[in-house]
Amino acid sequence: MTDKNTSQVFKLLLVDDNELDILNFQKNIKKSDLRTKIDVCYKASEALEKLANNSYDCIFLDYLLPDIDGLQLLMKLRDMSINTPVSVMTSQGDEKIAVEMIRNGAFDYFTKNEINPDKLSKVVISAVRLWDAERQSLFAEKQIIENNNRLNAILESTRNLIYAFDKNFNLISFNSSFKENIEHLLKLNGFVKTDINLADIPLHSDLKDELVKNIQRCLLGEQFTILQQMSFRSVPDHETPWYETTFNPIINGSGDINGVSIFSQDVTDKKKIEQDLLKAKNEAIAAVKAKSEFLSNMSHEIRTPMNAIIGLTELLLEEELKMPILENIRSIKYSADNLLVIINDILDFSKIEAGKVTFEHIDFDIRNSLEELRKTFEPRTNEKGLTFEISADKNVPEIIKGDPFRLNQILFNLVGNAIKFTSQGKISVHTSIIKEFSNTIFLNFNITDSGIGIPLSQQSKIFESFTQANTDITRIYGGSGLGLAITKNLVQLQNGNIHMISKEGVGTTFSVSIPYAIGEYKNIADKHKKSIELANLSDLNILLVEDNLMNQFVAKQFFKKWENDLIIANHGNDALSILKERADIDLVLLDLQMPEISGFEVAAIIRAGETGVINPSVPIIALSADAFIETRRKVIEAGMNDYVTKPFKSEELYNKVIKYTRKKLAN
Ligand code: ADP
Repeated sequence: MTDKNTSQVFKLLLVDDNELDILNFQKNIKKSDLRTKIDVCYKASEALEKLANNSYDCIFLDYLLPDIDGLQLLMKLRDMSINTPVSVMTSQGDEKIAVEMIRNGAFDYFTKNEINPDKLSKVVISAVRLWDAERQSLFAEKQIIENNNRLNAILESTRNLIYAFDKNFNLISFNSSFKENIEHLLKLNGFVKTDINLADIPLHSDLKDELVKNIQRCLLGEQFTILQQMSFRSVPDHETPWYETTFNPIINGSGDINGVSIFSQDVTDKKKIEQDLLKAKNEAIAAVKAKSEFLSNMSHEIRTPMNAIIGLTELLLEEELKMPILENIRSIKYSADNLLVIINDILDFSKIEAGKVTFEHIDFDIRNSLEELRKTFEPRTNEKGLTFEISADKNVPEIIKGDPFRLNQILFNLVGNAIKFTSQGKISVHTSIIKEFSNTIFLNFNITDSGIGIPLSQQSKIFESFTQANTDITRIYGGSGLGLAITKNLVQLQNGNIHMISKEGVGTTFSVSIPYAIGEYKNIADKHKKSIELANLSDLNILLVEDNLMNQFVAKQFFKKWENDLIIANHGNDALSILKERADIDLVLLDLQMPEISGFEVAAIIRAGETGVINPSVPIIALSADAFIETRRKVIEAGMNDYVTKPFKSEELYNKVIKYTRKKLAN
């Protein structure tokens, strides 16, 4: 007996109608080592009353009572859910009764002549222990039920299918979503869990085979998730729901796998969004591709006639012309140049949009670029009576490294706008260094005009595409509204920035800063360009391969100016026959887009060797109306030497011809 028991006061209820027996019980219990408090009842009815209001550790019950007998009382107690341990006291020879009592829930019995202190104390202690154990198991049972209810609530609250099979493919558990899905297959209502085997479920054979395969895989201990389209009903393919199904091995207390729990989550909506997104993405890609192809074609179509218009006007302007013809031809040239700028803007803009702009990284003389700017715009500022000032701080280095063509494009755009929107006063371009790191300088270009200015309300918008400060302006000055959007993009793509200060009626300053590395003079290409600029091309045999008669004519006019008679081939095969006959061709100018056999194919045949072409390494310059970077790349990949865009710029064409025929010219 423990200290705990000795210090505890046990509450006992004695139900007996015999005064002597009661005294005997009390005397013996007092002599025991237990501390007790005893209530005594003489009748069953009294006992019931006491038990309704008190709780006891143990009840000692005499079988023979004046009102109802012990057995009936015991049964009543159990009906009332009073589970206090009951020990039955009988007279000698009443063992049969005792057995009946125990059958009905009494935990012990003894005969009255057995009563002694030790016996009583043992009965009390074991009653208390028994009841403790009983209470604990009741508690555990309650917890299990609660847990189960909680789990069930979770299982039942979901649209997802949750089900489990044992290792013999018996369906051992499932939630109501699963039941709803499968009930029609089994034609049963309140079906009994353990009765169904996977074999009995009339599933589509593919689905069943897959399920069997996956359960077997999981029974080997693997936990995995699969994405599958499945349905327990027959629905059209496109309506079959998508499920993400996870297979989990069920492990029993001894660590063995004895089943598989399966969780199928309906991901149809997610899948649909994914598919829609993919479709939208593919459509967008196709649209961009179509747009870029369309632009490439359009640019070809538009630039070909532009080539003729600009080339021929340029040649005409070199003649000695009288007024007003000279004036009219200048106007034609001016309009054609403008049109070309707009076409180029649109092409540039779509290239920027498609992320296809690339930048050079070459050494160039910044003061040369500024001189170029002056030469280009001075005629216009003179014409408008504007002062035009271009300056650079002394500390701006001579040679910088970056993209001179894009810088030209940026400055040309801003100076062009400045002149366009200024009718009197001054345009100035000032270059300075605003920041300097080890080998990097931030060059700043301020382009200031004294023109009409930009209304405050429009200032935040003018860098957006297709925006003009005022629609009247379009009518007066023309333009596409793309210039500043392109300029801003070109600046930002070179890690620079651009901003603007403007006051209506006073003028505008655009400020551009771009980082450049400091370059070296020795890297500047074409240094001796000027020395042979005047070279005469009359000794060269240049073959032009071009199907368009107008383009042939324009090219012929250009070369006539340089005293050269072009040899013309009307198509690819024509060119190949010439190259098979003549060893003296110095250069091939090759149009890329021709019917029957394209420029790319002609170049491939020339370079292939053993095709009868006498000089497979003859220099080839491609001519094309589209200016896309990919086309340039393809030209070089096809083994051609260089590329000239149409409409020709007289100087560019000349310089490239010189570059590839220099050796012969030097002789
Ligand atoms: P656009 O090709 O139509 O000139 P831009 O993008 O170059 O398009 O310019 C957008 C608009 O910004 C112009 O239409 C004009 O309203 C305004 N803008 C640009 N530069 C100037 C300037 N220097 N002075 C006044 N307004 C200007």
